[in-house]
Amino acid sequence: MTLKLIDSAPQWPNGARCAVCISFDVDGETLVHRRFPDSAPDQVALAAQFRYEPAVAMPRLLKIFAAHGIRQTFFIPGWCIDRYPETIEQVLDGGHEIAHHGYAHARPNMQTPEAERESLQAGIEAIRRVSGARPAGYRAPAFQHSRHTISHLLDEGFEYDSSLFGDDVPYLLGDDTRSLIELPTDITLDDWTKFACLPDFGYMMPIASPSAALEMYKAEFEAAWRHNGMFVTVWHPFLSGRLARAEMIDQLLSHMQQKGGVWFATMSEIARHCRGLIDAGAWKPRTDRIPFSAGPLPSGTPG
Ligand SMILES: [Zn+2]
Repeated sequence: MTLKLIDSAPQWPNGARCAVCISFDVDGETLVHRRFPDSAPDQVALAAQFRYEPAVAMPRLLKIFAAHGIRQTFFIPGWCIDRYPETIEQVLDGGHEIAHHGYAHARPNMQTPEAERESLQAGIEAIRRVSGARPAGYRAPAFQHSRHTISHLLDEGFEYDSSLFGDDVPYLLGDDTRSLIELPTDITLDDWTKFACLPDFGYMMPIASPSAALEMYKAEFEAAWRHNGMFVTVWHPFLSGRLARAEMIDQLLSHMQQKGGVWFATMSEIARHCRGLIDAGAWKPRTDRIPFSAGPLPSGTPG
C-alpha cells in the first residue's frame, strides 16, 4: 500500500497524476555584471560561458521542447530580454511563457523597497515590449524575496510567484483581502546543485554526471506522480543546455511521456487552474503571510 503523503494537492486537469513544468531561469550575463560590477568587460571567459545561453543552449532546449510537443516557462531578466532579441523571438515563436526574473538580476532583499519596485517595473516593461502583455508570474533573482516582494507583486497584478520552497504543491501568499499563487520548487530541482562549478563565484562543487542527475530527477518526478504533486525545475541554459545534459533532458521527458498521466503546463496555466479551483470552491489551499517575523528575537530571549 502506498501511503498518501500529500493531503493538500489540487485536482489536476483530466485526471492527471501530477503537473510538470520544466522551467528555466535565463540569467545570461547579468550574473557577470552583478559579480564584477566594475570589471565585467574584462571577464571575457566568464561572459562567454553565459553567452552560451543565447548562442547555443536556448535553441537546443527549444528544439527538445518542440520535439516533445510541450510549452513551458522561461524566467528571464528584463536586461536579457533587451540584450538577446533573437532568443526571445524563438521563445515566443515556440508558444512558451516568459515570466519575470528581475531586470538586471539584483536580489530584492539587497535593495531598498523603492529600488525593488523600480526593478520590478523595468522587468514588466521589457516583457510587455516583446510579448504585448504584462507577465503573469515572477521568480526572484536567487530566490531572494524581500519582506516587500509579495506586496509589490500584488500591486502589479501578478498571478503567481515561484521562488519559495514552502510546500510540495501550490499554496497562497497574501492576506485576507488579496493573494497570489505560490508555485513552489526546491533546491533539489535546481541544476546549480548538480552541474555548477564556478570558481569566479567561489562555487567549487563536484560536477554530477547526467545519469546521476537523471536518477535524482526521476525520483522526484515519480514521487510527485504517486502523490499528486508538482515537478517544477529551476534549470539554467548554460548548465543544463550543455550537450550530454540536454540529451538527459530528452530522456527524462520521454520517460515522463511514456509513463502518462502527466500534465505538462506553463506556470501561468498551473496558477490559473489553481485559481479556478479556489474560485469554484473546489480546493482550499493554505495561506502564508510575509514577513514571517516582525523583527529579531527580543533581547533577553533565552537562546
Ligand atoms: Zn537567476
